Amino acid sequence: MSPPERLRIAGGAVHDPANGVDGEVRDVCIENGRIVESLPPDAPRLDARGMIVMPGGVDIHAHFASSACNHARRVLPEEHAADPVRAPALLEGEGPPRSGTGGTVPSTFSTGYRYAGLGYTTAFDAAVAPLMARHSHAELDDTPILDAGFFVLMGNDEYLLRLIDAGERDRARDYAAWLLGATGGYAIKIVNPGGIEAWKAGQRNLTELDQPLAGRRATPRAILETLADAANALRLPHPVHIHCNNLGRPGNAATTLATMDALSGRRAHFTHLQFHAYGGEGGRWASGAAAVIERINAHPEFSADVGQVMFGPATTLTADGPVEYLLQAASGRKWVNIDVELETGCGIVPFSYREKIAVSTLQWAVGLELFLLAKDPWRVVLSTDHPNGGSFLSYPALIRLLMDRSARDEALKAANPKLLAGSALADGLAREYTLNEVAIVTRAGPARLLGLRHKGHLGPGADADVTVYARDPDIAKMFATPRYVIKAGRLVVEEGQLRRAPRGSRLHLRPGYDPAVLRDLRRHFEAFSTVSFDNYAVREVPGPPLEITG
Ligand SMILES: [Zn+2]
Repeated sequence: MSPPERLRIAGGAVHDPANGVDGEVRDVCIENGRIVESLPPDAPRLDARGMIVMPGGVDIHAHFASSACNHARRVLPEEHAADPVRAPALLEGEGPPRSGTGGTVPSTFSTGYRYAGLGYTTAFDAAVAPLMARHSHAELDDTPILDAGFFVLMGNDEYLLRLIDAGERDRARDYAAWLLGATGGYAIKIVNPGGIEAWKAGQRNLTELDQPLAGRRATPRAILETLADAANALRLPHPVHIHCNNLGRPGNAATTLATMDALSGRRAHFTHLQFHAYGGEGGRWASGAAAVIERINAHPEFSADVGQVMFGPATTLTADGPVEYLLQAASGRKWVNIDVELETGCGIVPFSYREKIAVSTLQWAVGLELFLLAKDPWRVVLSTDHPNGGSFLSYPALIRLLMDRSARDEALKAANPKLLAGSALADGLAREYTLNEVAIVTRAGPARLLGLRHKGHLGPGADADVTVYARDPDIAKMFATPRYVIKAGRLVVEEGQLRRAPRGSRLHLRPGYDPAVLRDLRRHFEAFSTVSFDNYAVREVPGPPLEITG
């Protein structure tokens, strides 16, 4: 037997909110990839005196490992030329190090390196078409360091819609369970319920919860209820993950609130809430953040990630094809729009958010209002919907905006105020996030919302994913350049340099279901799919599925 691998992170100020630790100076002990209570005094030490110690970051919603991302990479050769990524100087035997490209949609290896360089050790791709699940697993195989998984798109799936039309909600739950296992996915994702199918079928979009798809009974409401109930009945670790109807449209806060009303009492996660929190009437833009966040505050069964917009380049990339049609028409930029057989769609438009543009500024302000008016940071966590609102590399700048009111006020002064009448941010919000609140919205909160019991905290038994920051008066710089990052007990970043790039593990589920669903499903595949039923399921998902403990 080889000796246990041990490390004592000694003397840092520890922020471990899941265990009630708020900046106390203490040691964090690691043995064989897990946090342990204590170690013998002669165990190897990492001197963290004067530094800040947090669990590794957990990204609940980003797009970095999908066929859609690959289409985006193809459309953006100019970004590859502008941001080449050299192979990191990994230690001997820790390679081979891989070069790649950066920009808003980095190549696979660069994605793993850059997330780790930022102190993030776990991330989920938030939108994978079931048919393209193999592609996502292949990309994740080449995305080092991160423990990762993905959410499976179901809100516009032809077979599910047929079951809803027929009122077969139990069958729909079994189908959702089968689909998660067949794809090696982690959670159920809904994007623009029914609206993508409407777009593909020439109905353009669905804008009201009770508007049926042409020629069918299924409505956005029925899709939302069916899949929210399925996730909860299956005791999935993460509830249904919802991108509401009418993303990015003025006045869409009304739709978001109606969706919350429809799901009241059911556990549900509302994603990139910023893109769904615009007030205003008759096509005029205004902030609707206050009403939307008040609803989240009042409903402990709901959670959200913000989807903050950051000024600078972005790539909008979503299953919501009709939204991208509108964005392309407004921006005149190049674009991609693809139907994914019977399952979903995909649209891509490169974009840039600018201080001088009134709508960009409004979106930026709405996101900050959601953060600053949220009462419970455990339920309203950080995202930029990478790369839609901005790259994950902008998280440190976002953290500065949350922690430093004067930085926020400076940014606000430089921004176009035209649409900010009635905005809480423009009226002045004094709140400044504490380090512990930052630790909640970037690691402890997302881990809890994802049901990852071994992540987002530093208690005994937790995965030894740890980030150590050297204090710096420049908050953005501090969060952008951790001094040490430890992944599963191994030092991947040392003295700010990436030194090791081990493979991460795959986070996936295989819920149980009544196999009676398979007979009809097989017929459906034979009649309509280009892929045979027997070849559809992903065979070699690395590692066992996570246990569903409810
Ligand atoms: Zn997204």
